[in-house]
Amino acid sequence: MNSPRSNLASTLHNLDGRSYGNYKQIRGSYEFGPVTVFIDRVQVDPFASPSKVRIRINRAEAGFPTDITTERTDRVAAADFLFRVGDSFLHRNDRRSIILGRPGQEVLERTNVLIDDEGFEARLLVNLPARGRRILGHQAADILTRDVPELAQAMFVYSDLAAACPSAKNQSGKNQSGKNQPSQVQSGRNQSSDDLREHVQLHRDQLELQSHLGEEGLLAFIGNGAILPRRSGDSDMPMDSNAVAFTSPSSLEHAFTLSSGRKLTGMAIPRGVTVIVGGGYHGKSTILRALERGVYPHIAGDGREWVITEPSATSIRAEDGRAVTGDDISPFINNLPSGTDTRAFTTTNASGSTSQAANLVEAVEVGARSLLIDEDTSATNFMIRDDRMRALIPADREPITPFVDRIRPLFSHRGVSTVLVAGGSSAFFEVADHVIALDAYVPHEVTEKAHELVEVKSADDAGEAFATPRPRIPTAKALHPSSKTKSAKAKGLGQVQFGKAFIDLTAVSQLVDPQQTTGIAEALEYMAEIFDGQISLTEALAEVEDMLDAQGVDGLTGNRDHPGHVARPRAQEIAAALNRFRGLRLVD
Ligand code: ADP
Ligand code: MG
Repeated sequence: MNSPRSNLASTLHNLDGRSYGNYKQIRGSYEFGPVTVFIDRVQVDPFASPSKVRIRINRAEAGFPTDITTERTDRVAAADFLFRVGDSFLHRNDRRSIILGRPGQEVLERTNVLIDDEGFEARLLVNLPARGRRILGHQAADILTRDVPELAQAMFVYSDLAAACPSAKNQSGKNQSGKNQPSQVQSGRNQSSDDLREHVQLHRDQLELQSHLGEEGLLAFIGNGAILPRRSGDSDMPMDSNAVAFTSPSSLEHAFTLSSGRKLTGMAIPRGVTVIVGGGYHGKSTILRALERGVYPHIAGDGREWVITEPSATSIRAEDGRAVTGDDISPFINNLPSGTDTRAFTTTNASGSTSQAANLVEAVEVGARSLLIDEDTSATNFMIRDDRMRALIPADREPITPFVDRIRPLFSHRGVSTVLVAGGSSAFFEVADHVIALDAYVPHEVTEKAHELVEVKSADDAGEAFATPRPRIPTAKALHPSSKTKSAKAKGLGQVQFGKAFIDLTAVSQLVDPQQTTGIAEALEYMAEIFDGQISLTEALAEVEDMLDAQGVDGLTGNRDHPGHVARPRAQEIAAALNRFRGLRLVD
């Protein structure tokens, strides 16, 4: 039922001073010129989660060029741009009652702004104002009949975009500590329609480069001039002054010309085994962290626009204390003194080395084609064992086959590459295809020199087979916690509540946005319906991916009118949550 705006305004004025519960009568849809405002859900009290409101405009009224709003991936980029326009508008005008969500440095597929065949839609959360438990009707009328339509106008009317001009560049980054920083509004520049086009084109070019990586046997690319370090440990913004821009060693330099005509030169990391060495504090971890994030496209001005990593790359670290359910960690751990079978290893409290082995085999199970590993977050006994230790402790008394012995078979038998930061040990020299040394943040290739120091194992010397483990099949009830029907809920970036259990995701470093965590919670709910005691974990994840490709993130929430604020997680991160769920049960 559509009603004109005057109805909503007068209803709200009449509700002024009445008890809060009366707000529920404003549910419905209202026309404001070309904009329709849908009030989908009204909060029951001032402290409940905010009310759900959508704004929508059809394509003809919005007037956006179709060449950048038709392809699926263009829509993701254009929606991301409009999301940033809206965010900037709300901050500039101090509209605190209206929540659109916080953009970060990555361009993610999310529900906040949707572009479909018919039109443009934003999903808002609105705190309806109260004094005590009394309705503030006049204020509510301002918010819903003035501020919300103004936001729609600013985001979705192409001819007005210039006036609303934020900059898609210079966005405030996601602040890891959760504090909101106002976006910077660029003054005196009225080119946001050009900015939109650039935003979409950048995204296209990034995806094109990412697809070239696969075709050319490359794992990642870091463009010359990239700014990798961040402003501080709790900011994802680029380091402003003093940052040393990236320059490729000439031996690894690679040039790409994209179909847009854009030319890029930088360091190409080939598939295989790459080891990054260098003195402490010379920027090793910073490179690896940029590669972790390179699975997502970054916005212009971030410094990492041209850090592009193949999309399945997964960061692997030690994570003692995590639960493990039925993982085949036997390539790394065998003959435990307890007699435990490590082909289906289960524990409620993994050690450093077993947790890192579990993280690795789980990533490969979901299809990781490359692993990113930093010595800073690894278990030494998982990674290496030196000759004197091998002499002292006989092989049959040592359950761990260190990663250094498995890194080549992992590549030759399973096609899984590794980029490894190892500044403290030469053990990986002999298994490395490339050794890159960082000197005051500047990379140099030192493969030959490193190989002269050791006896190199030839690439064909694959060692023992790295077998494919049998699939893990969750039970039909594996994701049905006894307590409630609606069971999964994100708690910030690093935690999902699932029934009465909490799933700790703080070690899952490629989770970059709290809305992805919400996406994971929704994905767990979705998978609860898929598991039937027959389908494997990887098959279920593939089903989720297919659905996401076909329906977008809205599909995760069953295409409800207003899905809330959800971003698309990668299959790797959904799997990470499932694997850390202490209630996970498998059929044997
Ligand atoms: P490592 O892992 O080699 O010990 P880090 O990557 O942790 O070194 O970097 C050490 C410090 O140097 C960090 O504070 C980081 O922000 C800074 N840094 C890293 N790369 C650069 C760079 N290219 N320019 C300026 N500072 C950098
Ligand atoms: Mg480091």
